[in-house]
Amino acid sequence: MTGSLRFLGASGTVTGSKYLVEAGGKRLLIDAGMFQGERRWREENWRDPQLDLEHIDAVLITHAHIDHTGILPRYVAQGLTCPVYATSATVEMSQLLLLDAARLQEEEASYRLESGKSRHKPPLPLYREKDAQAALRLFRPVPLGKAVDLFPRVSATWRRTGHILGAASIELVVEGRRLTFSGDVGRYGVPIMRDPEPVDFGDLLLIESTYGDKLHSTESASDKLAQVINDTAKRGGLVLVPSFAVGRTQLLLYQLRDLKQRRKIPDIPVIIDSPMARDATTIYSQFPDEYDEEALGLLKRGEQPFMTTKLRFIQDRQESIQLNSIHQPMVLIAGSGMLSGGRILHHLKHRLPDPKNTLLFVGYQPKGGRGDWIKKGNQSATILGDEIPIRAQIDEISGLSAHADRQELLRWCRESTSKPGKVYVVHGEPGPASSFRDLLIKDRGWDVELAGYQKEVLF
Ligand SMILES: [Zn+2]
Repeated sequence: MTGSLRFLGASGTVTGSKYLVEAGGKRLLIDAGMFQGERRWREENWRDPQLDLEHIDAVLITHAHIDHTGILPRYVAQGLTCPVYATSATVEMSQLLLLDAARLQEEEASYRLESGKSRHKPPLPLYREKDAQAALRLFRPVPLGKAVDLFPRVSATWRRTGHILGAASIELVVEGRRLTFSGDVGRYGVPIMRDPEPVDFGDLLLIESTYGDKLHSTESASDKLAQVINDTAKRGGLVLVPSFAVGRTQLLLYQLRDLKQRRKIPDIPVIIDSPMARDATTIYSQFPDEYDEEALGLLKRGEQPFMTTKLRFIQDRQESIQLNSIHQPMVLIAGSGMLSGGRILHHLKHRLPDPKNTLLFVGYQPKGGRGDWIKKGNQSATILGDEIPIRAQIDEISGLSAHADRQELLRWCRESTSKPGKVYVVHGEPGPASSFRDLLIKDRGWDVELAGYQKEVLF
């Protein structure tokens, strides 16, 4: 045995990804994710990590999603000073996401101060914008596909997983032992992103299992999008899409451009009402190395993959509110994707009462949330303090997930030419995680266990 690995998150749940590796006299943190969702997990963000943060030697990040990076600013405020290694696109994307996460933390704390709803007196943010800025100064870009020497006898290789721009698995070689961290695995054969790259597994594999028990819908997202837009435009209505800024918005723009070019939908305005989606789209445009053949082909022909006709990005809030007076067919994409806040709320308030319009879901809606309530067919919803009648059509495109499903995860495992020594299933709720563990045992004959929160294993 050479070293140890401790599961500090994404064990029994899908958020809070972080693992401490200790070997060869070095202490490395792989991902530094924030817990999200259920309260009992969110409370873990506040716990003293007992990590001796001053003596962590390096942080290695798989991708920019907050459940993989979002606790970094807090760790930096508590003493972490080491370099944070990530692919160039992840470094750029983290600028956007970590600063946004800090602002949300601060806003929430001041809301709790005003409303008196807090267990902390006075209510505190998990971290502030200045902490996120300090964390971002520690980021160091690494190339994809090349071993990076971090220390003597410690190297790491990032390989594309196609999940979001910059997302990668990490193969860590320390003191001659080889550890693979899958990060979040993306889809095969989807627009824009290349397929997940295979990895030769070594002594230890940590694999995600978000959809370890599920197969994604096989319906064509593009056909469904066209059908919803055409039906709504015929009624003279508007298609309102609550969308996630990173990944989903760019995918929609890509498909809208394609549908318009093929004359499958009318040339109606496409409006992006989210500064973060606008910035994420700019970052997506800056990394063509990440694109698949089809998207690269567009660039070669002088076309912009995310640029469609009559596309408009909305800047300030005032301009956003002015959209309420426009009554003509258009596609309006606004954040937040889960209807938990942001500009989508005032659009819902104005557009839901009109049966000509369509509210089109393109992403996961948590149980008990506002999106779930609307999808269930309720007649009204409370939005920004008012009871709003729901008369608009409600529809959904279900095949747009950025996560591999059960079969795609298995494909990624099968494409590896070597059998891993020991496998731990991480980043899944208990049901999907154990279902995927059983599949790996049955299909691959691997030595697989579920990761246990705060448990330590040797390698
Ligand atoms: Zn992710």
